[in-house]
Amino acid sequence: MTFVLQKGSFEGMKTLNQSTVLNIIRLKEPISRAEIAKFTKLTPPTVSSLVNELVENNLVKEEESVSSKAGGRRPIMLRINYSAHYIIGVYAAAEVMRTVLTTMDGKIVFDYVQKTMTLPSKAVFIDRLKESIHYVLDESKVDQRAILGIGVAMHGLVDPDQGVAIYSPHLHLGNIPIKEIIEEEFKLPVMVENDVRALAIGESWFGQGKGTADFVSLSVGKGIGSGIVINNEVYRSPFNTAGEIGHTVVNMDGPRCECGNDGCLEAYASEKAILNKMKEESRHYPESLLHEMKEDQLSIRSLFKAANDGDELAMSILNESGKYLGIAAANMVNILKPSKIILEGHIFEEGPHIVNAVKEMVEKYTFKSSPENITIVCSDLGKKGMVLGAVTLILKKIFKIGRLESV
Ligand SMILES: [Zn+2]
Repeated sequence: MTFVLQKGSFEGMKTLNQSTVLNIIRLKEPISRAEIAKFTKLTPPTVSSLVNELVENNLVKEEESVSSKAGGRRPIMLRINYSAHYIIGVYAAAEVMRTVLTTMDGKIVFDYVQKTMTLPSKAVFIDRLKESIHYVLDESKVDQRAILGIGVAMHGLVDPDQGVAIYSPHLHLGNIPIKEIIEEEFKLPVMVENDVRALAIGESWFGQGKGTADFVSLSVGKGIGSGIVINNEVYRSPFNTAGEIGHTVVNMDGPRCECGNDGCLEAYASEKAILNKMKEESRHYPESLLHEMKEDQLSIRSLFKAANDGDELAMSILNESGKYLGIAAANMVNILKPSKIILEGHIFEEGPHIVNAVKEMVEKYTFKSSPENITIVCSDLGKKGMVLGAVTLILKKIFKIGRLESV
């Protein structure tokens, strides 16, 4: 795939060598031209010419080294010029569209959140997507020539090669050629990925997955999904549907899931499933704090608050959801044996109940042939995880991460 960047900003990563050099600088900065030649096995004149071009394009900056051998010339050291260029990241879900402008190191310099109240038609969704990017470009007042690309983390089934949203169940929309539409509108390179996989890519670049080659990012919100990273690359499968942990069956006789099957994990542990259970059960337990609450007061936050105040019903609802999540996570661990599981979502942030239940079940149900150290952590990217994932789609193209990661 060619990665043609907008003319006028710079001519783009014309060669693999150029992005290789850029990636070595990112991983090893500050670094001299001579050291780059050593790491990449490129000749010093080739490195010099590639670096000069990167400096001219403002992607790399030079600084004088503070230390030098006695009498020797101080080498010029190179660093990535992170704040000279920008990336736009969009997270498009059923209930929210968030569009950010970041520097190359993921600092959000402009943030635009639109809450979605009603389900949009395809045309309205596309207009909203375009308008949100126009708004960020106009209001942030950055020179469009300094923007490297637009990444879109889209809810639902996505074909990342074609940049098409194939089907978005929560939006009830299908076949949206996002890449084609947005590239046509903004004349910038566009990358599109499923939101949960984009999140895993963001975790590997900015979050708890940094420096971890194999991990699973388990995401719980309206639905439940996972991003599987194997050897530093997100795994998609030939069908672009890998990681649908929400639709693994945890009880054959369980409640009906939105997908039509019975007993899926999502029917037990998604936010929606937990809220439904809360509404249902609170009616039958007059002694519970939840019983006194009006329907519009029942929320994930109020459930955790009641559990923190020692309410038995609240604790049992959280414990049950945590156990089902833990069973699904343990099954995944038995198959993939990742070194880390990263938990992402509101239900992991409000209190320890669900996290502890997941840890307990993974410990209990994971087959161990030898001592294994699988860590379970909560994401520290918070609500910005998805948009940073979208931004990382572009960063990964610019820096061509891959075989050089271990250098
Ligand atoms: Zn299902």
